[in-house]
Amino acid sequence: MINVFQPTLGEQELAAVTDVFASGWLGRGARTTAFVQEFADHLGVAAEHLVPVNSCTEALFTTIELLGIGASDEVVMPSISFVGAANAVAAAGARPVFCDVDPHTLNLTVDHLAAKINSRTSAVMLLHYGGYPGQLAEIAALCDERGIPLIEDAACAVASRADGRACGTVGAFGAWSFDAMKILVMGDGGMLYCREPNQARRAAQLTYLGLGKTSGISQAVTSTQRWWEIDIECFGRRSSINDIDAAIGSVQLRRLPQFVARRREIVERYETGLAGLEGLRQPPALPAGHTSSYYFYWVGLTGGIRDEVARHLYERGIYTTFRYHPLHLVAAYGSDARLPGAERAAEETLCLPLHQGMDDAMVEKVIDETRAAVLACREAGRLSAQEV
Ligand SMILES: *Cc1c(COP(=O)(O)O)cnc(C)c1O
Repeated sequence: MINVFQPTLGEQELAAVTDVFASGWLGRGARTTAFVQEFADHLGVAAEHLVPVNSCTEALFTTIELLGIGASDEVVMPSISFVGAANAVAAAGARPVFCDVDPHTLNLTVDHLAAKINSRTSAVMLLHYGGYPGQLAEIAALCDERGIPLIEDAACAVASRADGRACGTVGAFGAWSFDAMKILVMGDGGMLYCREPNQARRAAQLTYLGLGKTSGISQAVTSTQRWWEIDIECFGRRSSINDIDAAIGSVQLRRLPQFVARRREIVERYETGLAGLEGLRQPPALPAGHTSSYYFYWVGLTGGIRDEVARHLYERGIYTTFRYHPLHLVAAYGSDARLPGAERAAEETLCLPLHQGMDDAMVEKVIDETRAAVLACREAGRLSAQEV
């Protein structure tokens, strides 16, 4: 089976984990601190803005808590969002308000956002679909103008940049995921960016037991101190990564440029290999000044053939999927919105396999089988249309 997503892990990551074992220190320590600094350098920000956490979802929950969002607050987000983003809002007693997306980019636009902002809007939360930054600058400007904090769920955008700035650092808050299906993986892991270093300090407490200063051997103590005494400043959770995660993350971060370069090569091959096929629409071109992580390669399949193409590919060893099922259609959120762009995207979009472990033969197989599937499904559609 050719997987739709797949991490790349090997000898280098194993060697890093072996070092952690040999050190005798598995918990959050020097390797976690080092990873945070390296990730800060990668983003082009100071490490004091970053808090390492055990998932992107946890980073989003923490952000909602930092903003004091609760009952009677609304947070506007695209309906095509990751479920954890909406859960973070709903769990705080606030209401996620879903806005529409462009059916081709699957990102919200500034117009979709403007239609949903009102006096109860306490934050805007967006993602960068498939790693494409979207109208980030325009949306950030609108949020600034209205005094609404912008939260970037940058889980798809670990290496994406818009006009020279890393996605996730343009809004007031940003969150990344290093879970098992991302490009840079640790098993589970995440990072939170706060524009205000004070917010990052509070987030560090909220995600580490509320401790004011961490105690233990990592801190210099004098023999006259009672180093076991603690002080807490809030009732925090414990949602850190550990040094095993961080050691894997540091290796993955060094390899990230190669991962993204290979993904880009595959996307370019898809672009030529799938060009000119009636019934299949490719993702729009990246605007000048934007770069992508190439997290998804998605196609729009028109004429009602998407599910049939997915089945055809599955039967030939090619696994595909659609991300993310529109949240306004999830019963628990109780939304009665009609969002034609998101609904159309959910009917037409298919994410084809894209990961740096794909060799050329796999890429060619996906192209050949996709072309064959689209032709077969369109032919079948024509025949059944003649029958009725
Ligand atoms: C994967 C993903 C997340 C969740 O990340 P976790 O680390 O698994 O919590 C959030 N948002 C988007 C857009 C994602 O793709």
